Amino acid sequence: MLSDENLERYARQVIMPDIGEDGQERLLAARVLVVGAGGLGTPVIMYLAAAGVGTISLIDSEYVELSNLNRQITHTTASIGNPKVDQAAAMARALNPAITVTPIQGRLEDGNMATLLTSHDLVIDCSDNVDTRYRIGDGAHHHGIPLVFGGAVRTEGQLAVFQSGVTGHQDTPCYRCVFPDMPDSQQAPGCSEAGILGPVTGVIGTMQALEAVKLILGLGSTLTSRLVLFDGRNSGFMEISTAARPDCPTCGSASA
Ligand SMILES: [Zn+2]
Repeated sequence: MLSDENLERYARQVIMPDIGEDGQERLLAARVLVVGAGGLGTPVIMYLAAAGVGTISLIDSEYVELSNLNRQITHTTASIGNPKVDQAAAMARALNPAITVTPIQGRLEDGNMATLLTSHDLVIDCSDNVDTRYRIGDGAHHHGIPLVFGGAVRTEGQLAVFQSGVTGHQDTPCYRCVFPDMPDSQQAPGCSEAGILGPVTGVIGTMQALEAVKLILGLGSTLTSRLVLFDGRNSGFMEISTAARPDCPTCGSASA
């Protein structure tokens, strides 16, 4: 049973027939790991907190810089120099004090990967480096939890859901099936080299939060086996169907 306060706080989503009080209870019971407190992670954490996702952990090693502020919307001028995770967690708690928000200042590495992934129901990749992306992709597959992936640079973004390790979805691709070759920094320049327009990260981060909420609720069709490309310059979306690769070193038959 939801408390009176929660019935009012979440009234506009509880009133939806395919959410209801049961769906809200599911959101409140959910545990989500957000990797990265930058342009994608900051809108993600605010929308998860607003929706009442009950346990949110946020991991990032960086400190707020002035050049972050065109897009990383939980960070303020006064917070420059503070750990990003502390600032983002403080803003999420101010929005919704009843949920648990845990800031983890550090990087997702082999040493903490298993513990962090297995103590959450899903992971949202809002990181900004290729190495971390592949680690999360492989880790989510091996530990059997859904992954909501997003990326953005300049005026372009991309978004997908991976559930290859999740029961009932084993025939769907993992991250490495869709991105088999790890690009180098010249092929895939980051925001610090190539630039990024703030609202583009807002679009992709907000869609990542939506996919996470849908996964928790079992609502609609998620972006599993689908890669969405966003062209912010011309305001268009394109969708690519994706498939598992039998020769994938992470999820293919050779990996068993
Ligand atoms: Zn694979």
